[in-house]
Amino acid sequence: MDISHIEHLGIAVKSLEEAIPYYEQVLGLKCYNIEEVADQKVKTAFFKVGQTKIELLEPTCPESTIAKFIENRGEGVHHVAFAVNGIEGALAEAAEKGVRLIDQTPRAGAEGLTIAFLHPKSTKGVLTELCEDKN
Ligand code: ZN
Repeated sequence: MDISHIEHLGIAVKSLEEAIPYYEQVLGLKCYNIEEVADQKVKTAFFKVGQTKIELLEPTCPESTIAKFIENRGEGVHHVAFAVNGIEGALAEAAEKGVRLIDQTPRAGAEGLTIAFLHPKSTKGVLTELCEDKN
């Protein structure tokens, strides 16, 4: 597949309100967008680090996969997102090479990106997101 860069790191936090001050006051980054992604049951906060972003993920309800992640493993890095050219082709290639897909077809994610997840059981334990900016 044709990956250009790491688009973002997804980091699970219990509370954006408690996490954002660390990123702003200690790391000196600026939160430029807060967005709720209803179908993933998360509220997200974004920071830019060069062309890569940090995406903080706060669960909006106990059934959220992020809530379950925090329950099992605590707060921390949740997924790595790669920017790809041609997400449909990239997903097809991954499937063809035996990778288990979470999303069989790309869907809408935060920030207007088209996204799809690969299963961590097929990616050496790292939940992997492919994303493409089609705008
Ligand atoms: Zn993500």
